[in-house]
Amino acid sequence: MLDSETNLMAFINLYDGTEDQKYGRALRRAFTEIRKYQDLSVSTTPGGIHIPSYSFVKNLESRAHNPERNQVHLSRLLNGFLYNSNKDRRGQLSFILTESDLYDNGLNWCFGKLTPDTKGGAHIIMSTNHVNSSRTLAHLATHEFGHMFSAASRGRSNTEENLGSHCTNLCVMQQQVEVSDMDDLAMRLKSRDDKFCYQCQDELRRYR
Ligand SMILES: [Zn+2]
Ligand SMILES: [Zn+2]
Repeated sequence: MLDSETNLMAFINLYDGTEDQKYGRALRRAFTEIRKYQDLSVSTTPGGIHIPSYSFVKNLESRAHNPERNQVHLSRLLNGFLYNSNKDRRGQLSFILTESDLYDNGLNWCFGKLTPDTKGGAHIIMSTNHVNSSRTLAHLATHEFGHMFSAASRGRSNTEENLGSHCTNLCVMQQQVEVSDMDDLAMRLKSRDDKFCYQCQDELRRYR
């Protein structure tokens, strides 16, 4: 692997905190989609049982849990992940899947989000709590991976600024604010072999 001509493989640390393996299996679809354009490897098999990462997520959740709301604060969970553990995880790519009902400053609840860090890493936290189907979870995860790997970049043609830069083609990188619209989009993309439009595919190929 010392060949400097070779693209560096992207490595994702996956922490699956869900009990039902169907969610992890849904993530496989998102990884498969990204792998068409990026050489990507994952720390644990999505949908497999990995007790250490499950316990790790449960521990992060309990430290970010707000008993008054019975919800988990997303930013607090992220900070616990990045700084409060015994190692600094900045500079890495991570995906944390939680069953908890997430909220954040100014938001009653959220599916999750991607947060870049100060050392070139990026971290996706995603909740299954408000997700209606495995298809929707795969859709959401594919969308966030798209952000992680620079799809629908700011200033590109056929993008719009709508809570971040998003694609306006028929594409998984469209922004859907309403849950029903997002389910509709996932449905419309169902029969398509590729969930990313050609412009986003190009950007995914160029990411490194
Ligand atoms: Zn987005
Ligand atoms: Zn697109």
